[in-house]
This record gives sequence, structure tokens and C-alpha cells, in this order.
Amino acid sequence: MLSSHSFAQELDLIIRGGSLIDGSGSPATKTDIGIKGNRIVFVGNSAGRRSKREIDATGLVVTPGFIDPHTHTASDLEDPKRSRNDAYLMQGVTTVGTGNDGDSPTAIGSTLAKWTQQGIGTNAALFIGQGTVRREVMGMSDAKPTAEQRDRMKTLVDTAMKEGAIGISTGLYYAPGSFSSTEEVIELARIAAQHGGIYDTHMRDESSYSIGLLASVRETIRIGEEAHLPVMISHIKALGADVWGQSKDVIALIDNARKAGVKVTASQYPYTASGTSVTAALVPRWAEAGGDEALLKNLNDSSLRPRLINEMNQNLTRRGGPDSLLMTASRDKTIVGKTLATIAHERNESPVDAAIEIIQSGGSDVASFNMKESDIEAFMRQSWVMTCSDGSEGHPRKYGTYPRKLHQYVYEKHTIPLEFAIRSSTSLPAEALGLKDRGLLKPGYFSDVLVFDPKTFNERATYQQPRVLSTGVRYLTVNGQLTIDNGSLTTALAGKALKH
Ligand SMILES: [Zn+2]
Repeated sequence: MLSSHSFAQELDLIIRGGSLIDGSGSPATKTDIGIKGNRIVFVGNSAGRRSKREIDATGLVVTPGFIDPHTHTASDLEDPKRSRNDAYLMQGVTTVGTGNDGDSPTAIGSTLAKWTQQGIGTNAALFIGQGTVRREVMGMSDAKPTAEQRDRMKTLVDTAMKEGAIGISTGLYYAPGSFSSTEEVIELARIAAQHGGIYDTHMRDESSYSIGLLASVRETIRIGEEAHLPVMISHIKALGADVWGQSKDVIALIDNARKAGVKVTASQYPYTASGTSVTAALVPRWAEAGGDEALLKNLNDSSLRPRLINEMNQNLTRRGGPDSLLMTASRDKTIVGKTLATIAHERNESPVDAAIEIIQSGGSDVASFNMKESDIEAFMRQSWVMTCSDGSEGHPRKYGTYPRKLHQYVYEKHTIPLEFAIRSSTSLPAEALGLKDRGLLKPGYFSDVLVFDPKTFNERATYQQPRVLSTGVRYLTVNGQLTIDNGSLTTALAGKALKH
């Protein structure tokens, strides 16, 4: 009786005749999907079903909305002018995680409440940042925390988890996260573990700066083991010529840890350039202890200058030299769009001197070309690697990651099959982030549904013009509401602030 009742029920939306990929990795099937309220009600033959709205998806691909575990959207979501999250909706992303790299809003509960109150275009979840917590308690000090400071940091993480954070993030490459020992991190990760949270990390070293790429992977695995929680390596990569080819060893370390029962996953964006700042790329961390003011003082200190220039030169070589750093966003508009090599040449000075001047006049974001295609593809083929954008201003990944991955690595290079790519952007991140009833096209799941045209789904953003929306998403629902209808954004703010 129940089934005939639900059969007679009028649906809100039927999407008919598309090539449906459910997100589990199973092969595509040509079938229909029905939505009522904010849930998927059925997947299968829709003959005889009535619906308020019908979409003919012939020739189109129907998948779960994409879930991005690593973004920098906290300030976008908070700003009513940007909270629809257009850059993500137009890529087919219906859920974002933010607060990564150890850097998050301090007050998790009130941030989530503000999102709910003002309305957001995608669903969104928050990490509590370990760097944020440390800064709150110790400023930019590079000291070891006292017992009292450790307790205060633990309390902040505990409160954040109770208020709905999905886990703790670290940015151990950046100051002040870089000043934390592994043991200090483990202590805080244990608090997140008590609440069922996860550990997400921008590792201490993705290159050969300090402890090296492989030791950083081992450190991450140790944190997962000793704090008893799942760990996610953010934007996994082999950064710089010194570590090119080490994807093989990284994969072996992670496979072994997984076999031994440690829950290790990773996220990845499909670009050969990372996005960072001149300071983060070139300045050694000791020069940043004490914060921005101390950094500027250190840059002007003639007794420190030889050491500083020497280490910055080493870091520049590591990154691939001055041609590999492209200025993408700066207060000084005259340098945007130029490489460090060009700027140094124009000013008739050394690249490191030019970099110091740039930092002294407010700094600059850079696209840093430092990865090899073969490492990118090796990571992408792993069943535990999910897609992320790590979207930041000045890098096309914020606008183009998801369509680019399909266009380049599925349709053009055939690096991975379509169903595998869709899984890496849907059920895999849903599971890793602990999101309930999302990431699959399955009755009872939330209706976050993407319909795209495989012929036109592509990025348009470039390094020169990074803020251009992607093409090819024809329809997109977030919690059952159409946020893209026939290729155009609607006014819906249908996202939910997701609490752990
Ligand atoms: Zn990062």
C-alpha cells in the first residue's frame, strides 16, 4: 500500500532520460530521477509518474552535486553579495568545506548561524583551524605552549567541535602552525576525535623545505594513528624538482597505512601551479615569528639580510626559479600578471631583492608552477584521492577545478574513467567529511543533483583571467531547489550550514 501511495504522489521534479551516474563508482545507466521537497524519492523508470516540473536530460549527464572538501569560501559565504557562491555552483558544486589550512573563523557556532540567517547558495561545513586556535592563545609566537596554554587551546577546539565543526584543520607549512610540534597537534586532534571529527592538513612540507615530503606524510599518518581519527591530506602534490617522482613513495606509504587500519585520504586539484603568496613561498618561517611587524623588521635588518637572501634563493630554486612565480593579486596593480623574473628584469635587480620589495609594499598572491603532470595523474588514479579546488583569488582553480578535471583527465587524456572521477567528487568526499545522506543519487538522500552537458562542460578561467565562470552546467538542485535552471543561476539561496 505504501508504495502505491508514494507512486501516486505528485513529485516536484522529474529529470528524465539522462545518463545517470550515482556517485558510487557504478557504471552510468540511462534512467530517471524524482525529487520531492529536499529529498530524492526514486531513481528508475518514471513512466506514469506525475511531477510539477519535468526536465528532459537526453544527451546530458546526471550526477550528485559535487562536494569540495577544501575551499577558502568563509568570507564569501559571510558576505551577502557573494554568499550565493556562484564560482562553485557554476562548476556543479553543491557543498563546500572551508576553514582549511589551519585557518578558520574563531567562532564556529555564530558563523554557522550567520550563514543560516543570511542564506547561502551551496551547503557549507566548517573546520576549526589549529593555526587560528594557536594564534588566539599564543599570538605569532614560535614558543612551545605552556601547560596552561595547551589547556586553553584544547578548550577552544572542544567548544568549536560542540558548536558543529566537522574536524580540525592544520597548516603546518604556514606560521603559526609551523611552530607546533607533532605532539602538540596530536593533543588537539584527540579533542576533535572525541567528537567524531576528522583531521585535515596542509602538511608541514610538500617539498624539500624542512622535513621533506615523505616525512610529512609519515607525520600525518602518525597523527591519525595516535589521535585515533581519519586524516585527510589536503591538495596532495610533489612540489618542486627535488621531490618530483615521489608520488610513487607517497602512494606506497598511504596504501600501507590504510592496510594497517589508519583512515587516510587525500584531496587534489588538477593544476600544475599551486596558489600561495610571495611570503609563504620564499620567506623562511623563522623570519615570520612574531607576525607581520617582526617580518618587516627582519627584512630591514642588515645583520640578518645575508642569511635571509641565501635561504630565499634556495626556496626560489626549489619552486623552479623566478619564471615559475606569476603575480596574480596585489595591492600594487603594476605587478599583477607578471612573473618575478620579468619584474626583476624591469627593475634591474635580483629576483630575491624584487621579492623583498614586493613583500615590503604589501605582498602579492602568486601562482607557483611547481608540479609535474605525471605526479598529478598518479595521485588522481588512487581510490582514496578526492577532488578539491583549494579555491583562492588569483588562481583559476576557484572557478574551474571540477569541469577541468572531467574535460582534461576524463574526456581528453583518459587518465581516469568518468564514473571514477564522479565518485572522487561526490561520495568519497561525503564519506570523508562525515556528511550524512549526501554524495549519492539514492532514494532518501538529499536532492543535490547536477545535470551537465558533457560537450560543453569546461573551465573558462585562466591564470591571466582567473575569475571567469565555467560553462556546461544545465541544471543544479541544492536541497531540492533549482539553483541553475537551463544554464542560468536562479536567485535561490538553498544551501544549509552543515553541522557535524
Ligand atoms: Zn593549503
